Amino acid sequence: MAYNLNFLIAALLLLLIIWFHFINSRRMHDYNGRTFFLFLMLGLFDILFDFLTTVLISDNRPDLRGMTLLLLTVFYLLQVLVPYSLFLYTWFLCEQTTKWEKIFYRVSVLPAICMGGIVLRNTGNGVLFRIDGAGAYIRGPLYLSMYLYAIFYGVIILICSICRHRKLGAVKLGIILEFLFILGGCVSIQALRNDLLMTGFGLGLGILVLYLTINNPSDYTDRLTGVFNMRSFTGHMRRLYEQKKNFHIIVVDLIQLRRFNMLFGSSFGDSLLKRVAKELQTIMNTDYVFRLSGRRFALLLSSLEEYERVRERIMYFFREALELGDEKVRASAVVCGMAQAQKLDDQDMLIAYIDYLVSQAPPSMETVLLQSDENTMKSYLDRKEIERYLGVAIEQDLFEICYQPVYSAEKQCFVAVEALSRLKHPTLGMVSPDVFIRIAEQNGQIVQIGQLQFKRVCRFVKEHPVLQKKLESIKFNLSPAEILREGCSRRLVATIQEFGLPYSFFQFEITETLATEYSDRLYQVVEDFHACGIELVLDDFGSGYANLDTVLKLSFSTIKLDRSLLNGIMEDEKARMFYQSIVEMMKNMGYRLIAEGVEHKKETELLFSWGVDMIQGYYFSKPLYPEELLLKLG
Ligand code: C2E
Ligand code: CA
Ligand code: CA
Repeated sequence: MAYNLNFLIAALLLLLIIWFHFINSRRMHDYNGRTFFLFLMLGLFDILFDFLTTVLISDNRPDLRGMTLLLLTVFYLLQVLVPYSLFLYTWFLCEQTTKWEKIFYRVSVLPAICMGGIVLRNTGNGVLFRIDGAGAYIRGPLYLSMYLYAIFYGVIILICSICRHRKLGAVKLGIILEFLFILGGCVSIQALRNDLLMTGFGLGLGILVLYLTINNPSDYTDRLTGVFNMRSFTGHMRRLYEQKKNFHIIVVDLIQLRRFNMLFGSSFGDSLLKRVAKELQTIMNTDYVFRLSGRRFALLLSSLEEYERVRERIMYFFREALELGDEKVRASAVVCGMAQAQKLDDQDMLIAYIDYLVSQAPPSMETVLLQSDENTMKSYLDRKEIERYLGVAIEQDLFEICYQPVYSAEKQCFVAVEALSRLKHPTLGMVSPDVFIRIAEQNGQIVQIGQLQFKRVCRFVKEHPVLQKKLESIKFNLSPAEILREGCSRRLVATIQEFGLPYSFFQFEITETLATEYSDRLYQVVEDFHACGIELVLDDFGSGYANLDTVLKLSFSTIKLDRSLLNGIMEDEKARMFYQSIVEMMKNMGYRLIAEGVEHKKETELLFSWGVDMIQGYYFSKPLYPEELLLKLG
């Protein structure tokens, strides 16, 4: 028969090109990558031997009978291995993990072994094929078993893929079906037209589809720097967690990238990223450098010694200034070391933990090294737990409120209280508001908490008229996120109205940083409160970098002097003078003053002598639960 070799040559060229690109690109050395490579190589050799044997058979060379028989045997062996390797490929793609699946996986090699045995014995018994004395290729009685064998694995692949379609995902399932369809179609054509040799071509096309979709190396690499991308990081980490391997991670976050982009343009930022990526690859002896986000890289290490060596080298690299084009810059970074990263639950938690670690870096322009240890991991896990619990607490309204009395110098008694939120976790105990309020501010849950708590305060005031008799005001903290939320002031005012309480009994505390940062929006809110006679207190004055101009433009009636201003006032003359001059200045401007965090009698005497109106601190009273407060007020 005259065979048409064109399809085989085309398939051979196609697979050679894919092979060339595949081996020259950075690729994951995982099961999927390895089984694809195995399948690609077997497919390539299968087509090559198909080609060689067809040429020999077409020529009918009795003198080359031995060689033809040998090449054909190798070709048939490859025909045994190709379906099995495709099965392996889909098997690892489906990630079968149960006990029965593992048993099935072991058993599934048996048909391949049996068929391989038949092929090897064929030289003696000719059940599959033989070469006659004239050098002609003659099919044996079991020739069709090769087809049945391939169909058998095709069906198994189909069943496995459909059974595991959830794990596989619709896209990958579609690709496997497409592969089987292409190959099945080409085999059918060859069955009808023996001379066309379409099977090898179908195999080549199928591999091309896999290469372009599931195994395209460019899907796993970062275009700019050439290192692996976030997708491959997540996939790789997932496998390491599943295999329960020990591993260590180093994260490099280029904190100044945005600034460089603004100063020198984004192409400079790109060059910096490329330079850092190259350096990281040089420092590492392996391929495992990943770019997780715009400015963040992660390195994966399996040995602790390597981890320490690489960390040292990275710190050394960032110590020196970098020459990039005409510029010489110091590209500082936050470097986070995480030994034994497998201690976290999974890749999602690892990625969230990396975010957390980087966020713990002190604000600095210098390169800093943060080392993850048991404590950081624990505080992260506690934080996660608090985050989760906050949702429950909001849903079931599990918060409480303590009231810290404020003592007046003039009246010599408590004249106000500050409402302070409390949250008790079933296992972690009392969670500081500094922690849960910060988390709630970041998650946006502070608005709901604020509403719940303000209602609680109003209810308390409503149910205990004694509070209005004994006190002039109740102070409630408002977070930036609450105040800047549209309709916040209206809602608070409506709540007071709902309980039928006088507006003037309530005062809202706003922190100094908010007053300086978001002034524009804040003016409106402040005006809304003023319109109904609600006074505002500037909280934590002296704790940050106050922009006095902005602070003064907002009409606060009272200023709370931060506890940090008290540091050293009993011993240090300058600290004392500083506090005193703030008191004098603020008094001259007509503000009422509350000194916060006063714990000692001597401080109290000093502050009152300077003209501070009120004191809130442990010296007079700690924050009290409602019933304690009622007792204290008598
Ligand atoms: P803050 O508004 O500055 O509240 C004063 C904090 O200082 C309270 O801490 C109080 O217990 C503490 N303190 C008072 N006197 C002394 C003292 O003499 N010595 C010491 N060492 N501390 C003293 P707390 O209750 O832990 O609250 C921390 C922060 O959490 C508050 O600071 C406030 O910013 C925030 N916060 C508390 N409850 C709420 C709330 O319901 N909403 C909002 N937005 N923030 C809240
Ligand atoms: Ca406050
Ligand atoms: Ca304060």
